[in-house]
Amino acid sequence: MAPPYEIKTMPGKGKGIYATRNIQPGTIVMKDCKVMEIKKKSHRQVTAHEVQHAFEALMKEQQVQFMQLHEGCRHYDDKTMRIFITNNIRKDFSNYILLKVSLLNHSCVPNTELDSGESEGHKYRVHAVKPIANGEEITHCYQGNPWDAARRQRANALRAYYGFECKYVACTLDPAASAVSDARRHLLRILTGWLAGYDATAANMLTNLNPANAETSEFLEGITHHPELAVPLTMQQTTVYRFLAAKLAEAENCSGIAAAYCYAWAACRLHDQLAQLVCEHNGWMILATVRIIYQWMRTAEDIATRVRGEKGAAALQIKQWKAHLESSNLGTIIGHLNAAGLLDSTAFGVAQLSGNIMVLNQHEFKRLQNGLVTSGCIGVEAKKFLASEASATG
Ligand SMILES: [Zn+2]
Repeated sequence: MAPPYEIKTMPGKGKGIYATRNIQPGTIVMKDCKVMEIKKKSHRQVTAHEVQHAFEALMKEQQVQFMQLHEGCRHYDDKTMRIFITNNIRKDFSNYILLKVSLLNHSCVPNTELDSGESEGHKYRVHAVKPIANGEEITHCYQGNPWDAARRQRANALRAYYGFECKYVACTLDPAASAVSDARRHLLRILTGWLAGYDATAANMLTNLNPANAETSEFLEGITHHPELAVPLTMQQTTVYRFLAAKLAEAENCSGIAAAYCYAWAACRLHDQLAQLVCEHNGWMILATVRIIYQWMRTAEDIATRVRGEKGAAALQIKQWKAHLESSNLGTIIGHLNAAGLLDSTAFGVAQLSGNIMVLNQHEFKRLQNGLVTSGCIGVEAKKFLASEASATG
């Protein structure tokens, strides 16, 4: 089948890639192979000499394609170097070019994602993460993570390093909506940092980036450096921050594969906490917690299936985690709840591994919950309560 896109030049926008049919989320829009790979032993930038060497190893046709790519506005004398630096994908210590992917224009709310995992034959795949209508432009985010910078910071980086202004939705919001979007992305950046073990609460350097200081080592080396967290996150923090990150990404219309993993990991961490409580409480579990874990995992599976396809590696992996949860104590309780018609209800209460389910009113539930989660006399209050309920109903 012919690729679902064509290269077109639009007045005032230059070259771009446009859909030639309606594209469903999850569809592989494009496959590409890396060329001109330059491996380094550190994060040092590639040299013009290395780029020239890699360029000469290309086939004639690839050289022609390469020389037609956007050359950005970096200060290098050599055009080959300017093009390489502008289109270069850096992963760990490897620097390479994807000739076709480089043709996609940037958007801060892209409709595709590059699957960074290499599949067979060194092919990289670009997946649609939203429905793309016939004739619509296909976009991609140049700045790695689409969600981690505020509007002014994104604009500074795009102007200084790529030489253009972003005219897509997140960058053309009215002031009030823009302030909300900036606040969400600021929070996302901090949460993403904490979850990766570093502290990104310091002001984002990109705020002060401009074409005059863009090439100083302070900027080139400093942007991605953050101190490590002094105290590791607790399991509760990890759970809540993952969930929050997924929700914020969804609100920014950037819920790609990262959001799917946020939901899945949050579900797994909450399940770990639940497992601990279950041991301390004779197999009793709070219904709401069971439902939340199950819902988060289902949401993770839905997003992964949507943006990477049903047979995609991410969807298969998340399905496997879900199956693992279902084969644990949680699965037993889910089965009981389902049989009692309570799985999708909002009833308060607790369920026991043996199949006992106790539905409580809000007041009773509060008392029980306090007993369940307060440390020190943990469980004592809850056990007394359950015993009194059992004798009252029995
Ligand atoms: Zn933008």
